[in-house]
Amino acid sequence: MQYFQNYIDGQLIAPAAGQYLPGVEPATGQVYAQVPASDATDVAQAVRAAERALPAWRSRPAEERGRLLVRISELIERDLERLAHAESQDNGKPVSLARSVDIPRAASNFAFFGTAAQHFASETHYQEGVALNYTVRHPLGVVGCISPWNLPLYLFTWKIAPALAAGCCVVAKPSEITPYTAYLLSELCMEAGLPPGVLNIVHGTGPAVGQAIVEHPGIKAISFTGGTKTGEHIARTAAPMFKKLSLELGGKNPNVVFADCNLTEAVATSLRSSFSNQGQICLCGSRIFIERPIYAAFRQAFLDGVASLTVGDPLAPGTRQGALVSKAHLEKVLGYIALAHQEGGHLLAGGEQVHLPGRCAEGYFLQPTVFEGLAPNCRVNQEEIFGPVVTLTPFDTEAEVIEWANSTEYGLAATIWTQDLTRAHRVAHALHSGIVWVNTWLHRDLRTPFGGMKNSGVGREGGLEALRFFTEPQNVCIKL
Ligand code: NAD
Repeated sequence: MQYFQNYIDGQLIAPAAGQYLPGVEPATGQVYAQVPASDATDVAQAVRAAERALPAWRSRPAEERGRLLVRISELIERDLERLAHAESQDNGKPVSLARSVDIPRAASNFAFFGTAAQHFASETHYQEGVALNYTVRHPLGVVGCISPWNLPLYLFTWKIAPALAAGCCVVAKPSEITPYTAYLLSELCMEAGLPPGVLNIVHGTGPAVGQAIVEHPGIKAISFTGGTKTGEHIARTAAPMFKKLSLELGGKNPNVVFADCNLTEAVATSLRSSFSNQGQICLCGSRIFIERPIYAAFRQAFLDGVASLTVGDPLAPGTRQGALVSKAHLEKVLGYIALAHQEGGHLLAGGEQVHLPGRCAEGYFLQPTVFEGLAPNCRVNQEEIFGPVVTLTPFDTEAEVIEWANSTEYGLAATIWTQDLTRAHRVAHALHSGIVWVNTWLHRDLRTPFGGMKNSGVGREGGLEALRFFTEPQNVCIKL
């Protein structure tokens, strides 16, 4: 049995109270590791280490900080196989997905922000004979980064890399459900020569470690990705302390398919946007609206595609559908399937737990599930399920589908399928979504602002937005 450790002040250390949580492999239901159940004492130690490291780190030239981040990116690439295997074992995602998406994107996060800080220019405002104003962007100081279990290393590094690039020191907490790759990242940071205290990784539960990070007066900003309820709780604690907050929260994303689309591409990509990572990506399009003239054709092709998605051992190279992340989450998703039946939905595919033979006999597997016949305002079409469950709904007019697409409390991402460029722009602008993809999905350019509207979040990550978040602008005005 392996024991993970906290990474504090450049060292791997056990939690102060000596307590551990079981790390469960979702594909087998077995405990495979012990995860530090840290508490406020460990967080306080991490904040002290970060405060000690801050003066030297913030005054290093951006280029030097960037070189270290690029080095970490190279080490992630070097260890791609090991990290992908760990991510798959810890999360239940197919190793093929971790190898092609999660780990390469974690490496890109460090490479991108390692160089981005060098292109982060400040502004000057010159009024001839009157004044020169210029803006200095100071690193905020010690910041807290808290991430979820669905894309563990990918989202953890998406926060940490810009914070470090901006000159902040970090106290970070990965999800206690998926801590493995964060633990391996600590080893890589040590190997890369990151100075002690610049990044500290404290493992443990949300109420114990996350709450202590949010409450600690030494932490100037919180960058959080996770559920909307947790985000609300964090905001309630951090706002009266005047901490800067970036909240990336839940979604219930519409996927709008117009009759003039390229049907083959729309179906193939909709299969991915429905069921990648077992539907556990905040950007998955779980409400599929199809214009009535192609409803039957789309439905048939989509169901043919679903029939070819076999659920298997995530560690097997050919598997495309793995396990859900935990027993509790599987039960939550099964609860929504029961609700869909109660709300009058007609089951078109899936709907059942999958029992695999051999090593995965106790794993948390679920068939990709498709319903039709559910009203756009029913609970299944309004609440985030975060699993491999989608609904198909025909629509007749553009106005109607825009209204349905916008009808939830969320506004993270949307997809539009059409060959009509004018309509693509018109509908994109009418959707209340932070991200709109046209004829594609999950296409990411790290320079673009990433985040949601409405209850999907506050603030934006990505590119210069992230560097702005982790810095404080100061205006200097000189009389001429
Ligand atoms: P979660 O909110 O339960 O947990 C997220 C993190 O917050 C974990 O590290 C958890 O330990 C911590 N946490 C829990 N309680 C806390 C508290 N009181 N104070 C501080 N930290 C606390 O979310 P989850 O179940 O891990 O992740 C799934 C959710 O994340 C879904 O709602 C999904 O949509 C969302 N998500 C959003 C994005 C995005 O970019 N908008 C990306 C991925 C996931």
